[in-house]
Amino acid sequence: MIIIDGSEGEGGGQVLRYACALSLLTGQPFTIQNIRGGREKPGLMRQHVTAIEAACVIGGAECSGLAVGSNSISFRPGRVTPGDYHFAVGTAGSTGLVLQTVLVPLMTADAPSRLVIEGGTHAMAAPPFEFLERTLLPVINRMGPTVSARLVRHGFFPRGGGRIEIDIAPAPLRRIECVDRGRAVSVQATAIVAGIPFDIAERELKSAQKILSGWPAEAFVTRQLPADQGPGNALLLEACFDNVTELVSGFGKLGVPAERLAATAARRMAGYLASDAFAGPYLQDQLLLPMAIARGGRFTTVKLSEHSNTAAALIERFTGSRFHISAGDNGNLVELIV
Ligand code: ATP
Repeated sequence: MIIIDGSEGEGGGQVLRYACALSLLTGQPFTIQNIRGGREKPGLMRQHVTAIEAACVIGGAECSGLAVGSNSISFRPGRVTPGDYHFAVGTAGSTGLVLQTVLVPLMTADAPSRLVIEGGTHAMAAPPFEFLERTLLPVINRMGPTVSARLVRHGFFPRGGGRIEIDIAPAPLRRIECVDRGRAVSVQATAIVAGIPFDIAERELKSAQKILSGWPAEAFVTRQLPADQGPGNALLLEACFDNVTELVSGFGKLGVPAERLAATAARRMAGYLASDAFAGPYLQDQLLLPMAIARGGRFTTVKLSEHSNTAAALIERFTGSRFHISAGDNGNLVELIV
């Protein structure tokens, strides 16, 4: 039994999701204590419970202590069964993070799966749908599986109500090199509003344009969704290269001026563009698990995040494989040592 202290490292929900995935993939049970011990309000939130329930359903796992507010769970994995599954978070909790829990076990299973996940699709501190579709899944698909995603309905904080659908055709994972991002192909800035004043989108684009001044005027577009999908607002900044697409996001929040939200996102995009790295700060930790299961692979990235350090330590405990990180010409080079 692997014992995990959930307050270590990043100390958030990610360690739970990766622990469930690793447990299903390696057959090792685990107990986690001090769940989300690094967060202001520790313990399981609704979205974490849904993610763990999803792992139990697809993996025939048994879990004790699973309830909103719980600080400790024990998880005993069973057999991963591919199929058609429907998971609903019930709040604006992230659909992408539920997917993060079950994706690698299902994409290495012995038959296809189809998932419908309901909840938030564009909310803070989680991958928005477009990040999954354009940044993460293209890299995953180069590893062997074919995973496609559709956004059926947007779900913003606090209402949720979004829906994504995922088709997974599994395959054994092969090692890939993600060292060179290739030539710049295109850029786009999209400001999305739903059920809030349209000028918020225009103000965001204006502010982002000041920082991303080299981007052509036609790259800045607004998108108004039906009001019943809101209230909500997201700014998506996308830079496509031959080998990878980076997607930086910002989400509207009461009290945060549109200009400030946009300037923060634009500066983060400018930082990525100024580097030569393949993976931005969020793709990083999301590549570690598939690379560990592929038993090899390398990628260049911007500064290592605490999420990545925490995921790497967890992967080492479950698999014995270690990530070696060295500073190179293209940023940091992260390499799996099996
Ligand atoms: P907590 O409430 O404890 O912070 P959480 O369940 O929301 O927990 P984290 O532990 O913070 O999760 O993990 C968030 C995950 O979402 C990480 O894998 C991170 O890479 C990813 N992520 C966060 N923000 C973005 C973003 N803007 N774009 C893409 N991925 C993101």
